[in-house]
Amino acid sequence: REISPIDVYKLLPRTNCGECGEANCMAFATKVVNGETSIVNCPPLYTQKYSKELDKLEELLAPLVQSVSFGTGGNAITIGGKHVLFRHEFTYQNPTPIAIDLSDDMAPDVISARIKRVIDFSYTYIGRPLKLDSLALRSVTKDPTRFRELVQIVCNSCQIPLILCSTEPDIIAAGLSVCAERKPLIFAITKDNWETMGELVLRYSCPVVVSAPGDLSLLRSLVKTLKEWGIDQMVLDPGTYHSDQIGKTIFQNTAIRKAACKDFDPFFGYPILGTPISVWNGQELSEELNRWQEAYLASMLITRYADLLIMHSLEGWVLLPQLIWRFGIYTDPRKPVSVDPGVRTFGNPDKNSPVLITSNYALTFFTVESDIKTAKIDCFLIVIDTGGLSVEAAVAGRYLSAVKIADSIRDMNVGDFVIHRYLIIPGLAARLSGETEEETGWRVLVGPRDSSGIGQMIRERWPP
Ligand code: SF4
Repeated sequence: REISPIDVYKLLPRTNCGECGEANCMAFATKVVNGETSIVNCPPLYTQKYSKELDKLEELLAPLVQSVSFGTGGNAITIGGKHVLFRHEFTYQNPTPIAIDLSDDMAPDVISARIKRVIDFSYTYIGRPLKLDSLALRSVTKDPTRFRELVQIVCNSCQIPLILCSTEPDIIAAGLSVCAERKPLIFAITKDNWETMGELVLRYSCPVVVSAPGDLSLLRSLVKTLKEWGIDQMVLDPGTYHSDQIGKTIFQNTAIRKAACKDFDPFFGYPILGTPISVWNGQELSEELNRWQEAYLASMLITRYADLLIMHSLEGWVLLPQLIWRFGIYTDPRKPVSVDPGVRTFGNPDKNSPVLITSNYALTFFTVESDIKTAKIDCFLIVIDTGGLSVEAAVAGRYLSAVKIADSIRDMNVGDFVIHRYLIIPGLAARLSGETEEETGWRVLVGPRDSSGIGQMIRERWPP
């Protein structure tokens, strides 16, 4: 389904009033189509006069995979909201949240330790914090009282969005008696409980997972029935198969997402749940292999259309690859991840401190930043706008050139910060040294090819 800026423009007020901050309605329409702004930023559209156009625009721009939210306030999580099947067509929206399980047969100290680990788990990757997102509370004992106690402990400990897991309506009701106002996601409605569980879902207005492992036609039929019944905040669980049936899982997810995005099937236009969770029971695979399986299955599910994952392991080596992979999948494929160009200072630089040059590719910048901080160097770092390309690619594509360096030095008034006239350029830009001296009038020192060598270079060669 291709939407052009003209399609959107035709439904805007077309007064070019500028209230949205754009020069005209066409510029605004282009940004809407590119996902860079939303129609809510056009105030005139929300007056009575344009109510018909607004309805049409909302219909036109609705994602093919519906957005579903659980949790409340600033902690709410939105999943789904996808417009396309393939990432290169348009940026994927709503990165796959990872929920970690707690079960009502766990000892209180284990529950507390796992909650703390989920809250504290954080890793900074190219300047962005990567964190875990949700807790999935599982009824293992099948005892409503035990389940309610678990939910109560969790509610007293944190505000993280919850998933309540049981196919028994009385157990879910026990959990909801404690946490309904936190709008948890209910897991799950099945062919056997759909009437009783459906009533609970309608009574508490909670989103729900519809589960039919291995049977896509049953899954679709359940969704259709529930939709007709007035339930619309649904998540699909086609089943996650482990070991030698992983291919089936990927096939099913792909079939569902294709049906939504290519055939516009409204009953498959919902987020997909993946459950790579693998709790070791002392049998079959060893504990180590069990966790390996959870890790690679999670990665495959993030790649192939899972909009939400439930996992068990809290080991860094299992979770970090998922968080970094998720980060990569959900960035805009049309734009390299970049930082703002400009002058950064490290430590307490003075007029005799070194001046280094780098690109504004985020991975390059944060690596250089980390190496400078580790080496405890007082210096100025000039971050040049290379269009988000790394140094090597930017030099090859002329996005980092002697002229660009000269322009940046001048525009950023670098000459005012220091009394010397020496620039340290990256080793990967060594071939620009002569030209840069001519363009800038500054002497050039060629730095190391790898920024981990900056500390040693400064110690050995500065002042020049
Ligand atoms: Fe056009 Fe709306 Fe922007 Fe005004 S606020 S210029 S009507 S898009």
